[in-house]
Amino acid sequence: MANQSWSIGNAKVTKVVETQVEMPPTGLLPEATPEAVGRHAAWLQPHFLTEKGHFTLSIHALVVESEGRKIVVDTCVGDRPLPGYGDMAEGNEVFLRDFAAAGFEREAIDFVLCTHLHFDHVGWNTMLVDGRWVPTFPGARYLFARSEYEHWSNSEDRSLIPSFEDTVTPVVDAGLADLVDGDHKITGEVRLEPTPGHTPGHVAVRIESRGESALITGDLTHHPIQWAETEWAMGADSDSAQAGRTRQRLIREHGDRPTLVIGTHYAGPTAGHIRGADGGWIFVAQD
Ligand SMILES: [Zn+2]
Repeated sequence: MANQSWSIGNAKVTKVVETQVEMPPTGLLPEATPEAVGRHAAWLQPHFLTEKGHFTLSIHALVVESEGRKIVVDTCVGDRPLPGYGDMAEGNEVFLRDFAAAGFEREAIDFVLCTHLHFDHVGWNTMLVDGRWVPTFPGARYLFARSEYEHWSNSEDRSLIPSFEDTVTPVVDAGLADLVDGDHKITGEVRLEPTPGHTPGHVAVRIESRGESALITGDLTHHPIQWAETEWAMGADSDSAQAGRTRQRLIREHGDRPTLVIGTHYAGPTAGHIRGADGGWIFVAQD
């Protein structure tokens, strides 16, 4: 299957999938009981709610091409054993092959941006060569929001960053990491935007080119239902109330506007728009 891609003015975004995980909604969002999800079934189906009533979490990288630069946004789980996460890393070695098949050379990547440092966003920062973890994208600057990097570097809880020493530390040691502000500009068309809550230094990615606009969510949402139920917590949130306020702010900015919202974990069409409906908000996929 051809890789999905979207044009935003002169910029282009291409999705390279690592894996997809199907789960009961409460496995992702504890408040997403069958009854609560059922209220949204009409607009979630078929892409965002399976016939069995499950959510599908897609783990993918998004490659942004802008002004001659190639930027990888989030690098998935990678292929390394992850204590506590079962077989989530199994079979992921296909990612680098699929990345190349999508037309991207890892040596030609200019920037790697991790929206946050949870393990499923940093995995392919590095790869194993001769028993050592080395940067997968040797010609890239790796951008980490400074507050995010400092938070996790000093955190005693490693449960959400079990691969940190293999995925982040080697990049820093290789001198390829840049600690940047949350509103850092990568190109004239692509910039970061602070979107705290899921993690303290979480950033989204804004793309604006020739009057068109897109937002790459990172994990400010994990599933489109969080645009309708902005206050639903996600198990791995650092501060769920703050994450809810961040989503509400983004709805004020992008609801019923042409901004293309590209979900970092959205399955199927992955991109769409936030639309007002029945006094609330829904996500309408762009097929
Ligand atoms: Zn994630």
